[in-house]
Parts: sequence; structure tokens; C-alpha cells
Amino acid sequence: MIYLNGKFMPIEEAFVPVLDRGFIFGDGVYEVIPVYSRQPFRLTAHLKRLQHSLDGIRLNNPFSNDVWKKILEQVIINNEGEDQYLYLHITRGVAKRDHAFPENVLPTIFIMSNPLLQPSQELLKSGASAITAVDNRWIRCDVKAISLLPNVLLRQLAVDVHAVETILFRNGFLTEGAASNIFIVKEEILLAPPKSNLMLPGITYDVVLELAEDNQIPYEIREITETEVSIADEILLTSSTKEIMPITLLGNKPVGDGKPGELFKRLHALYQEYKATRMRE
Ligand code: PLP
Repeated sequence: MIYLNGKFMPIEEAFVPVLDRGFIFGDGVYEVIPVYSRQPFRLTAHLKRLQHSLDGIRLNNPFSNDVWKKILEQVIINNEGEDQYLYLHITRGVAKRDHAFPENVLPTIFIMSNPLLQPSQELLKSGASAITAVDNRWIRCDVKAISLLPNVLLRQLAVDVHAVETILFRNGFLTEGAASNIFIVKEEILLAPPKSNLMLPGITYDVVLELAEDNQIPYEIREITETEVSIADEILLTSSTKEIMPITLLGNKPVGDGKPGELFKRLHALYQEYKATRMRE
């Protein structure tokens, strides 16, 4: 069952008018929240990022955090599966087509849940492949906007060559993946690009840095060049649905020795432990 504008219904019965500004302009924002054992993971942080995205497009938040929590609880109850991921989508609503914001229009609010599938054991054992591309998106990548055409095209470049992700560089510096954050490891130090308007502040990115801090794993947050990525000992990809994944092939070149590295194994194990013990915040 999905949630659309205050009602629960089967997805087949959910329709939005063609004049919805999400459809016409891509005028909206979204969030993706993992649910483990029927409990949302890092919910407060996801709702905070949702507020940041709404502020970024000058759209009022339709609900308080308490109301969001109640609705999301209901979505989880109305869907099967211990592990799910919630997709929340808010647009500026339905109005006569005009770029300027409409007045007195209610936002469209859509929430669905899908099963959360962990990356396969094979993928975690062998690692995944990625390619690189120039980051040609807009300069508000910190806003989780539904207008994802550049991300779609960049991700397809990876799919075309059977890779899992496209790693992006702007002016020679690492930003993130088409749908993930990227870390590298060099000489046992975890390196993360700094948060800015050029990347999405990943919730999983924050968890990884907290795990590094709490477990005495040396890390640095700083600009990372394309050359550094090309000679990294390890490359790690993070996202709410993929958690932490090792990238072992970059283009045609193995990363490090071509196998998932020690720091990946450690962080992946710590992440699994963290999920099991500190689910809510
Ligand atoms: N960067 C982009 C462009 C994304 O689309 C995503 C999530 O899908 C991420 C980073 C990772 O963010 P999170 O860890 O909050 O899922």
C-alpha cells in the first residue's frame, strides 16, 4: 500500500494529474529511508535533510517531524517485510503550467515502501566495478531534487558497460557517485570529500565517518583528486540502499589488488553491528 495525499491505496490505484509540477518541471524533492526490522534507520537525520531540500526549493514542509514519523510508521505497518526502504516524494502540487510558483496550491505527497535487498554476498566478496565521468549536474547537488536527468544519464553510462556506478569529478576533484557517496583509502587512511553544494550529504556517509571516529580508524575529510582515486588502495561506495560496497575495478583497472580491502571489511562489519544495535538514531 502506498500513501498519496493523506490516503493509503494500492499503487495500481494511485494517480497524479498531468499538470502536477513534479511531472511538468521536476519541481519537487525526495528522500529514501532504510527500514531494518521494521524500524526506520536514522530517521531524524533523514527528516532534517528533507527539510534542507525543501528549504532549497522554497517549499514549506507540509508536516512536523512528529506527523512524518506517524505517517511513516503507518506506511511500514501497511507493507510486508522486515527490511524495507521508504521513498518520500513531495512536489509543489498541481497548477496551470507556469514556471513561477503557483499560489494557494497544496503539495503532492507520495510515499511508497519497497523491499530492501542487501547487496549480494558475491558482490561483497568480489567487489563491484565503476567507471568515471565529468560531473555535469547543477551546483545544488546538496538538494535531493526529483529532477534527476543528469544522474539518470550518468548512471546509464555505467549500466551500458555492466558497471554498478559512475564516479563523478568536477574540475578534477571527486564529488560523489551518480547515486552514492564515494570514499577512498590510501595508506590505511580513509579519505572523504568534504560536504558542499556539489554533493548530497549522505546519511550513510555520516555513519561511516562516525564509525571511523569511534573505532580509531584514521580518516581525513579533504578534496580528493582524480589521480588519487585512480591510484587508491580501496574505493568504497555508500548509500542507504547499498550500505557500504567495495569498488574493485575502475574502468579496466583493478583497484589496489583487485579485491575488497581490509578497511572495507572492517567498516562493513562495523556497519552491520551498528545497524543491529542502534537502529533509531
Ligand atoms: N549521492 C547521491 C547523488 C545519491 O542519490 C545518494 C543516495 O541515493 C547518496 C549520495 C547517498 O546518500 P544516502 O547515504 O543518504 O542514501
